Amino acid sequence: MPEFLRQTVDTFRKATAPARAEMNLRARREQFAITLTAVTDVHENLRRLTFTSPALADFVPTGPDEQCALLLPPSGQALRLPDLQTASVRHALAALPVDARPLLRWYVVRAHRPEAAEIDVDVVLHEDGPGSDWARSVEIGTQVGFRAGSSGYRPPSSPTRQLLVADETALPALSVILEQMPLQEQPIHSIVEVPSAKYRLTIDTPYPVEWVYRNQGEPGSRAAYAVKTSPVDDLGYAWVCGEVGLATGIRKYLVKERDVDPAAIFFSGFWKKGTPAG
Ligand SMILES: Cc1cc2nc3c(=O)[nH]c(=O)nc-3n(C[C@H](O)[C@H](O)[C@H](O)COP(=O)(O)OP(=O)(O)OC[C@H]3O[C@@H](n4cnc5c(N)ncnc54)[C@H](O)[C@@H]3O)c2cc1C
Repeated sequence: MPEFLRQTVDTFRKATAPARAEMNLRARREQFAITLTAVTDVHENLRRLTFTSPALADFVPTGPDEQCALLLPPSGQALRLPDLQTASVRHALAALPVDARPLLRWYVVRAHRPEAAEIDVDVVLHEDGPGSDWARSVEIGTQVGFRAGSSGYRPPSSPTRQLLVADETALPALSVILEQMPLQEQPIHSIVEVPSAKYRLTIDTPYPVEWVYRNQGEPGSRAAYAVKTSPVDDLGYAWVCGEVGLATGIRKYLVKERDVDPAAIFFSGFWKKGTPAG
């Protein structure tokens, strides 16, 4: 194909491609109460919360990075679940009286043990946020709402070269993805940007994981540099989750500079510096 025609086709392909790789969508909405049964400090800034509910025995995650909304009742109040039929959980919450309205925060299911009807959720303890404060002080026996979500990791069915990028909030998700990944010969390269070395965890995976430390830098700055020098080229799939700047910046770089098809990149802003979730 002549070069000018190839470039035109390429421009058209990029302009018409979906903006993001498809997710694994949940077929029907699910919501139920779960009860905190254990708290484990993985390290001083990461708290593992174990919850139980009979409904967790039959719960089926849509993928390894299963997203869930935790509905945290106001202090001293019993849990009131929002209407399940309202498609937007935020709209459903807005219909509840303010003093009974749970706080909604998104997390990922770090582990699911259907035989014990349990899940673990790993929460980053940071300086300033009601979700983080709640996880720091929550007591065993507390009931919260669990609203099942979807999952993002959905590479092509045939083995392909992959780049996975996470920060500390997306590290629970990345850990499950890597732990559940079948062995393949195509390279899988992961980059994890965390605030400092104390956030580093062991992930049970044969694939290389490159750790970079943000120190006082902007979220995403170290990961962006690591992506530019990453050994894996000709990517068939990328999964990029973490602070908004990390997710959007790396996605833009991969599309513009590494010619990755936008429809082969799943990216998601898990938090935004300076802005509460809401
Ligand atoms: C799909 C999805 C999955 C997620 N999975 C996880 C998970 O498994 N584990 C997890 O810990 N988080 C996860 N997050 C991120 C988490 O929802 C956000 O960090 C959320 O903002 C925390 O709520 P908060 O009430 O503590 O702080 P907010 O009230 O939302 O924010 C208050 C302030 O704290 C800042 N802030 C928020 N998070 C952080 C942080 N981690 N470090 C430093 N500053 C922060 C905000 O910029 C804001 O200035 C996920 C988010 C999404 C969308």
